[in-house]
Amino acid sequence: MAIYVNKNNGFEQTEPMTRVCPHCGAHTQLLPVANPSFEILAQTRPKHAGLLFRCAACNEPRFLRAAVRAIGAERIELAPNLVEVERIRERFQYGYLPDTVEQLLRETLDCYSLGAHNAFATMCRRTANTALRGMDGAAKHRWQDQLIEVLRVCEVDAVTAETVESVLFAEGADPPTITPDEAAVLVEALKDLFYQSYVRTAKLRAAMKMRRFFAGENGGKVTSIDREGWRELA
Ligand SMILES: [Zn+2]
Repeated sequence: MAIYVNKNNGFEQTEPMTRVCPHCGAHTQLLPVANPSFEILAQTRPKHAGLLFRCAACNEPRFLRAAVRAIGAERIELAPNLVEVERIRERFQYGYLPDTVEQLLRETLDCYSLGAHNAFATMCRRTANTALRGMDGAAKHRWQDQLIEVLRVCEVDAVTAETVESVLFAEGADPPTITPDEAAVLVEALKDLFYQSYVRTAKLRAAMKMRRFFAGENGGKVTSIDREGWRELA
């Protein structure tokens, strides 16, 4: 693929560019919105040019940077390996976590957002160990089972599954080196484990407490949780 800024300031891509959108999660096309003018690029001859695109699915802006490869009389060629400038922080409902676990999980997800994938893997192990130390003795087995189930349902390939499991649960040796694709699976698996253990259980307990409260008000007649209630818990 080649990218050009033409003399008339027109932006030209030889083929459409598709990427996963950090805002909406869709794997979709990036549509050009704005680029530096031909005149400015030719005059200032920068090493890099900043470009603005938008997501074809959700319309959110996407900021990218391209190396300036060649400045010609009719057009300026930009390198095709565009780098995303904006990094989206991973979100989690941190309010449900104990303080020490919250701090570690925040730093773990920040490593991922920064693209420091091996730092992220190392922090995954540390954060999982800290969380498990605060739980009962069977928690590690439950997490392992839960992880295997999630990876199976999502049809994650065997090599990636083994890497993710080793990062989280292997004892002794340092976590293995991971690729960006493995990191993408790992971050979702990690958030799922923490969500199930902290967020979901807390929401379930709150719902049960509420149910007992209303049962008490209605003279002890306990009715089953309605479907809306369960949807709220999911
Ligand atoms: Zn989007």
